[in-house]
Parts: sequence; C-alpha cells; structure tokens
Amino acid sequence: MSTAAALAVKSVLNESRQIERAAMLIQMGARMQVLESETTLSYERLIRLYKEIAGKSPSKGQLPFSTDWFLTWQENIHSSLFLNIHEYLSKGASLDSVELLTRAYRLYAEQVEAAGIDALLSFTRAWRLVKFVEASMLGTTACTQCGGRFVTEPYENARHYTCGLCNPPARAGKSKSAGALMLH
Ligand SMILES: [Zn+2]
Repeated sequence: MSTAAALAVKSVLNESRQIERAAMLIQMGARMQVLESETTLSYERLIRLYKEIAGKSPSKGQLPFSTDWFLTWQENIHSSLFLNIHEYLSKGASLDSVELLTRAYRLYAEQVEAAGIDALLSFTRAWRLVKFVEASMLGTTACTQCGGRFVTEPYENARHYTCGLCNPPARAGKSKSAGALMLH
C-alpha cells in the first residue's frame, strides 16, 4: 500500500472511531457540549448524527458553568456516589475517558435504580463533574463521621467536615416526591 493510501485508511478508521464514540455518548443522553468536547467531528456532523440516533434535535443551551449544583444536599450525595465509582474504575482496567465515564455512569444508574431512587445526576452533569474535578474546581473530602468520600469545594476543612448523610439539613427526609432520597 502506498503512503497516501495508508494515510487515507487511517483517516477513515479514525473517523469511524469518532462516530462510534459520538453514537455511544448520544445513546447515554449526552448533550451537544459533551459531544463537541469529546469527539473531533464537526458541529454539523454531530447535529446530523444526533438527529439520526436520538430521533430528535438536541436541546439548546448549555448547562450553567457553576459548581453549586454538585454541592447541594441530595445532588451532592448522587455526585459523590458517581465520583467514587468513577475513581474506583479509573484505578482498574485502562479505559479512555469516554469509556470510563460511560461505565461509571451505567453503574451509578444501576445502583440508584436498585435502591429505588431517581437518578438525579444526568450523564452530562456527570461529565461536567469529572471536568470540574480535573480542573481542581471541586475535590473530595472524607467525612469525619462515616469516612465516606464526598464531593466538596477543593479547600474544604477536612478536620471538621461531615457529609450530607451524617448531617442532613433540617428539611431532609421531608420530601414527599416519589424517588427522592429518604432518611430513616
Ligand atoms: Zn458521613
């Protein structure tokens, strides 16, 4: 095979790898900002793929660029559960970032479903959470009471930190909505 032909084959292989990646992300419910960040495909290409796979146009607008969501009570517990799974998986088999995210999210969704709780953390939020941790805008801190690791501000005082399960806010457990986290 000539060099030019070899390069052409490589480019086709890379392209199909990118499409496979995008398809997997779309099936997980990822929004456009995730697809644009995690693949090298053009915006137009991604829009077409999205419509083809999801059967509808992607929702417009970006998630707010804020760490607050991950730090509120129930959201924090879901975020922490996901991040623990993600960290655990990252220590095992060598997976690329998208495979790792996808596997961790599936396990998170399975765990909450088994517990009869709604999955508060969307796939796109899970992706955003990993990005915030990578950028050191969020970190994890061990709870001084239960020892579990929870998502916190990076400068949280570890000597006094208690998690949202050991020290729930006063309103906790009063939610009447089905599938909400309840404390006994
Ligand atoms: Zn705790």
